[in-house]
Amino acid sequence: MTQVKPYILVVEDEEPISILIQYNLEKAGFQVSCAFDGEEALEIIDKKTPDLIILDWMLPKISGIDLAKQLRAEEYTKSIPIIMVTARGQENDKLKGFECGADDYLTKPFSPKELIARIKALLRRSKPSLLEKQIEHKGISFDMANKSASYKNSNINLTSTEYKILLLLVENKGRVVEREKILNQCIKNPEDKDALRSVDVAITRIRKSLTKTSTKLEDLIETVRGHGYKISE
Ligand code: CA
Repeated sequence: MTQVKPYILVVEDEEPISILIQYNLEKAGFQVSCAFDGEEALEIIDKKTPDLIILDWMLPKISGIDLAKQLRAEEYTKSIPIIMVTARGQENDKLKGFECGADDYLTKPFSPKELIARIKALLRRSKPSLLEKQIEHKGISFDMANKSASYKNSNINLTSTEYKILLLLVENKGRVVEREKILNQCIKNPEDKDALRSVDVAITRIRKSLTKTSTKLEDLIETVRGHGYKISE
C-alpha cells in the first residue's frame, strides 16, 4: 500500500497562477483540487476535507478573508491550516490575514519552492502522519504505509477506524481531541444520530486492544469529561 498523499485545496481565481501552483504541488507529491471562488471552495471542502488550504486574498463572491473567517467558525473546518496568498504586500494586510485565522502568509510572486516549504512546515505540525513514514509515541509505532500500529514489535489489533482514531490522538498529543473532531475525521457517516456515542464505543475497543497488547498501555487514552479524549505528551 502506498502512503496517502496530502490533499491540498488551492483557492485562486487567476487561472495561470492556479495551474502553476497545481503543477508544482502535484510534482511534489500532493493531491490537489482547485477552486476559482469562495463558493466553489466551500463545495469542494464539503465533499472532502483538505489537509491544507492555499487561499487567495482577492476572490470574486466571497473574499479570501471572509472565507477564512467562515472556515474558522465551523467545527468541521476550523483546524485546517490556511496559507493566505496575496498580491499586496502591506504589513496591514498581513496582520488582517493572521487575525482572520490564516496560519501563514505569502506575497505574490512567490517561488513554488517557498510555497512547498511553507506547506510542509504547516503539515508537519498539524498532521505529521502525512509526511512521515513512521511515527512513534510512548513505544507505539505507526506504520503509515500499512496503516498498522505496534508496541515493542507486537501488533496492536485495530480496525481501520480505530487506527485512525489512535493516530489522531497521537498527532494531537498533549491536547484534548473533541469527540466531534474524532467523529468528523475518523468515522464514516458522521450524520448518524448516535454517532457521537460510536466514538466512545470505538475508544473502548481501542483501550481493550491496547491493554491486550501490554498492560502498560491500559491508561494511555485519558477521558476528558464533556470534551473528548487525550494522550499525554
Ligand atoms: Ca485573486
